[in-house]
Order: sequence, then C-alpha cells, then structure tokens
Amino acid sequence: MASRQASMLSARPPDARAAIERSARDGYIAGMDAPTADAHAAAVLPILLPPHPALRARTRKVGPDDAAAVRDLVPRMLATMYAAPGIGLAAPQVGVTLRLAVVDLMPEDVPAPIVLVNPEITRVSEDWAVREEGCLSLPGQYADVNRPARVHVRYHDLDGKAQELEAEGLLAACLQHEIDHLDGVLFVDHLSALKRNMILRRLVKEQKQKAAG
Ligand SMILES: [Zn+2]
Repeated sequence: MASRQASMLSARPPDARAAIERSARDGYIAGMDAPTADAHAAAVLPILLPPHPALRARTRKVGPDDAAAVRDLVPRMLATMYAAPGIGLAAPQVGVTLRLAVVDLMPEDVPAPIVLVNPEITRVSEDWAVREEGCLSLPGQYADVNRPARVHVRYHDLDGKAQELEAEGLLAACLQHEIDHLDGVLFVDHLSALKRNMILRRLVKEQKQKAAG
C-alpha cells in the first residue's frame, strides 16, 4: 500500500540498501545472516500489476516446509517495498502465493518492519474510517477507501512466534489492505464497479503510454 500520506511518510531517499542494512543491524531479522551488499542490489523484485493472476490467486498458509523460502523472500520483499517506496507489500504482489506480507510505516523515519506470517484479522471496530489508499500494484492510482477504523490482527513473526497487534489509523488501513491481498482482493474492490473500472482502465492506459516511452 502506498497512499499519499504514505508518500509523505516515505519522503526519505528510497535507498533500499541503507534501509535493509539499518534494519539488519537493528536485528529485526534475528537468526538471519546479514545479507551482503551485493545481495541487496539484487534483492528488489518486480511488482506485479493487474491482470496478473497472482494478484487474484488464493494464497496458501505458510507451513514449516516454507521456512527457508520465507527467510530468503522476506529481505527481498522489504527491499522491494523500501525501494518503491511503499509502506506495505504482500507476497502475491511479487508472484508468491503464500500468506505473507510486510509493513513498515517508518515511524521517526527509521525502518520498523513488521513481518506478517499467516496474518488474520480477529476483530474489527464498529466504526469505520475513510482514508485515501494507493497500491504498489496499481501505481499512480488513488481512491478513498472505507474500512473498519481499528483492527486486531494475529500473525506469526519470522521466528514462528505468535504475535498480535491492535492497530488504528494508517496502520489499521495498511494491515487490512495487505491482508486483502492475501485473499486476492485489491483496494479498488472496495469501490463501486464504475470507479474500479475507471481506475483499472486508466492504469492500463498509463502503463501503455509508459511502455511506448
Ligand atoms: Zn496493495
């Protein structure tokens, strides 16, 4: 997810390597070898756009057999998110149909990534909030989306430890947006068919213009 608010949050140099090095130094990826500078350079993955089927696919729960793949993938997902720059990225957006997403609102402009393995929304507030959203898979497209204002999320971290968090504001919207991706749902699916089709058509047109140079 990358909203306009998010682009303000990400008014930092989009230097994925520096961000990853800082995060690795801070030890968020406990038990993971600090990747080399070369690995960082290679780490950024292409972000898929509609109508790529991975964006609409059913994702599979991360299991014990996926541990090595997930430990390999998460630093790449973070590098991809920081480089975009964005504040969230779900595995289907890079073609991996696992229930896995990363989020970082960069509070105080330092990386504070949350790695969500098998996240689940367990409670939502009765009150809703409207917030402008964007998406790294729908570059340049923004719209107001109405969602529950607060959510309670259960997930596992990279070490397989059960975690939970209560979120409001931008984080609540971001978590719902990323967990939607794991169910093949894009933010435009929360809009009227008219608005959704307008955004998807505009995206295709802009991408064609971009490809034509
Ligand atoms: Zn998104």
